[in-house]
Amino acid sequence: MTDLNIFRSETRSWLEDNCPPGARGTGPMSLGARRLDLGTDLKLWLERMAQKGWTVPTWPREYGGAELDREQYRVLIEELQRINARTPLTGRGVNYIGPTILEFGTDDQKARWLPQIARGDGAWAMGYSEPGAGSDLASLSCRAVRDGDHYVLNGRKTWTSDAVDCDYIFVLVRTSPEKPKHQGISLILVDMSQPQVQVNPIRLLSGASPFCETVFEDALARADDVIGGVDNGWTVGKRLLQFERSTHAGINISGSQGGRNEVSRVPAVVLEHAPTHSGRISDPALRSRLINYLISDAAQQLTQKRVIEELKSHAPGFASSAIKLSGALLKQEGDELMVSAMGIRSLGTEDPEFSAAEQAITRNWLYGKSLTIAGGTKEVQLNIIAKRVLGLPD
Ligand SMILES: Cc1cc2nc3c(=O)[nH]c(=O)nc-3n(C[C@H](O)[C@H](O)[C@H](O)COP(=O)(O)OP(=O)(O)OC[C@H]3O[C@@H](n4cnc5c(N)ncnc54)[C@H](O)[C@@H]3O)c2cc1C
Repeated sequence: MTDLNIFRSETRSWLEDNCPPGARGTGPMSLGARRLDLGTDLKLWLERMAQKGWTVPTWPREYGGAELDREQYRVLIEELQRINARTPLTGRGVNYIGPTILEFGTDDQKARWLPQIARGDGAWAMGYSEPGAGSDLASLSCRAVRDGDHYVLNGRKTWTSDAVDCDYIFVLVRTSPEKPKHQGISLILVDMSQPQVQVNPIRLLSGASPFCETVFEDALARADDVIGGVDNGWTVGKRLLQFERSTHAGINISGSQGGRNEVSRVPAVVLEHAPTHSGRISDPALRSRLINYLISDAAQQLTQKRVIEELKSHAPGFASSAIKLSGALLKQEGDELMVSAMGIRSLGTEDPEFSAAEQAITRNWLYGKSLTIAGGTKEVQLNIIAKRVLGLPD
């Protein structure tokens, strides 16, 4: 038996023995949020996987990981999928700020933050966007002023997803307003439990929403929690965005989600609803859209695999923009196809006339619109691809 086969067989039996029934199948995943109780099975699953170093399988052992190489990581993901085990820990801790600290943090910052993130002790929010700074992020105005061992933060961040449940937030702040706008920014970590950090949920037309506005009024952050150096936040913050985009694209191997792909339900839903003749979809236009979708889906998954195999870090650089964008467009096309095939059955989001499964597809279709906005809009990704991947002139 090769070493990899031994690793597979040990992994398989450990997962069988240790993954509780309530952590299998679709359902919620832990963000590490202290104030959310996800129940006994998910808690146990998180504890066991963290103990094994498999919440962050590729991280060094001293920071809570298991130092798996690419091949072992692939095997672990395959074995998790085989028993339909849920990812034990997700979110901005293991996927965004964790790998950023690994790349840019000092030894002291790594020792202080990474084991805690790997254990899922605290959930993280992302404080980038502001009312006046979205795509043009470098125009941000949230200020941080040094006062002894601390920075004092004042300003307002918007669209901070999940902030109401989060324990920490990483924030892009302006530390040197007198410098050119890209050069006076820092990335700093902030404890959200202080009263000087106010979180106001933003309600959407649909009712509930993960969005919040996060307001800092003389909030304190430790001066040694600036990641990657004072006024270097543009470089560090852009790298964190690559981790975010790679996570969306399924090619971030910092946590234990990279390379996971559910089997697409699009063909089954289309075949269930579209009129057929002798087992074939009658509408040739819908048929050809479905075939094109399936080809693109296969190409996306193969590209994802290749990129992961070639990774030299936890996620690629500018290529993350291309794969995030193609993945988002593909997901939107899949949703459109299902909704087209469902016709009138896709018109309900709350009406009991429509089944739970139908409503879920319709809500997912609506939610999918945000995928070409979150993590940088489609136009922003196209600009990055044009300039940084294809090398076209500015
Ligand atoms: C689901 C979701 C979750 C989010 N979560 C978070 C979060 O947790 N934390 C956080 O900080 N932010 C979050 N955001 C905010 C997100 O990062 C911003 O919405 C995004 O960067 C766009 O900024 P904006 O909304 O201000 O739009 P704008 O920047 O005002 O853009 C408006 C339109 O103009 C276009 N545009 C702007 N500039 C250019 C250009 N140079 N070239 C071509 N077109 C351009 C855009 O593509 C867009 O179509 C989230 C957004 C969504 C949808």
